[in-house]
Amino acid sequence: MAPEEYDCIVIGAGIQGSFTAYHLAKHKKSTLLLEQFALPHTRGSSHGQSRIIRKSYNEDVYIHMMEESYELWSLLEREAGVALHRHTGLLVMGPENGKDFQCIKGSVEKNKIPVVELQRHEFSQRIPNVNLTEGDAAFVENTAGILYADRAIRAAQMIFQQHGGVIKDGQKVLQIEPGSMVTVSTGSGVYRAKSLVITAGPWANTLLKHVGLQLPLKVVKINVCYWKEKVPGSYSLKNHFPCFIQLQPKEAEYDIYGIPSNEYPGLMKVCYHMGSETDPNERDKQMDKSDVDIVSRYISRCFPGLEPEPAVVESCLYTVTPDHHFVLDHHPTFNNIVIGAGFSGHGFKFGPIVGKMLSELSMGQKPSYDLSLFSTGRFHTHSRPNL
Ligand SMILES: Cc1cc2nc3c(=O)[nH]c(=O)nc-3n(C[C@H](O)[C@H](O)[C@H](O)COP(=O)(O)OP(=O)(O)OC[C@H]3O[C@@H](n4cnc5c(N)ncnc54)[C@H](O)[C@@H]3O)c2cc1C
Repeated sequence: MAPEEYDCIVIGAGIQGSFTAYHLAKHKKSTLLLEQFALPHTRGSSHGQSRIIRKSYNEDVYIHMMEESYELWSLLEREAGVALHRHTGLLVMGPENGKDFQCIKGSVEKNKIPVVELQRHEFSQRIPNVNLTEGDAAFVENTAGILYADRAIRAAQMIFQQHGGVIKDGQKVLQIEPGSMVTVSTGSGVYRAKSLVITAGPWANTLLKHVGLQLPLKVVKINVCYWKEKVPGSYSLKNHFPCFIQLQPKEAEYDIYGIPSNEYPGLMKVCYHMGSETDPNERDKQMDKSDVDIVSRYISRCFPGLEPEPAVVESCLYTVTPDHHFVLDHHPTFNNIVIGAGFSGHGFKFGPIVGKMLSELSMGQKPSYDLSLFSTGRFHTHSRPNL
């Protein structure tokens, strides 16, 4: 049988691939979205009920991208007729004179993001049940909140299909042959397209091997922990408790973040922003719980209203670049192959705008934002096209 032909093939139906496909279909490009697992699944990085959405970032480009991302999330809410976002505010805490807190505060002020600074004497009134660390300062970003992740991904895929897009799940891509028409083979079919977008999350390097490229990506397992409230409701959405980020906690090198209790009533989600390296196919063999211990010690110290033992532990994967910035670029040799990878545990909120830019790259258009921060060239990787 002759291979099916499309304008574009997108590999990987996580949030980034789903939004890339969504934008391509809206531009009337015939698009195939291939996914190795039956949808929906919980083996990658985009599953689960909640993600934080915020504008507080050090780098202007992320802040500018988030301005548009918020608009695109609202557009998807209207198109799909579902609520995907809930406003909660984001409490940012960190050492007052520390580099991270100073940078983020500076860039929030520069970009006029609405925030409320909390003085130490008013902190406990405004944020009950949290101990602000000695030497830490705090502010609340008003516009931040929660994205309903599983619902969001379903909505993007639904609108993609309404615009004529084709999803084939349970089809693992086994081979890619570059060319003016790229050929992609799965266990069940062969497909050809003028352009290819690879958004394979933790499996990015497995796929990039087929096109002679390897990126310095580290895949880590995150233990997604939910902690029981001693008094039900004390850290809940109903009680207007915000999402939070603790920069430079005393317990460890990376940040700790949390989402008010909602998805599992009485349980608040609090996680460490790093985990232990793993092979994505062997995620459940990675049993290291040192990230859970870090959060437990932090909770004992700063969240006295939570039991310091997790009540529920789920798993998710980060794909981390050395500088924690994304990869959004053309393949260095094959211009009609586009890569979205290395979202380093903070990519979900950018889904709509990342998808827009990957679709622009794949259609040969100038991307809406300066993508130099996200280039493959920054790693000095060498493409070996004949592999
Ligand atoms: C615990 C946790 C908390 C997070 N919190 C936040 C947050 O608060 N805010 C935020 O903005 N971000 C957050 N993130 C990060 C965000 O969720 C990720 O950056 C984002 O989901 C990455 O999406 P992706 O599409 O790149 O990857 P994935 O969702 O992993 O999608 C890749 C897809 O490609 C498929 N695939 C791979 N290989 C093949 C193949 N050979 N053939 C076919 N299909 C293939 C996979 O099966 C998978 O479905 C968090 C992540 C985790 C794990």
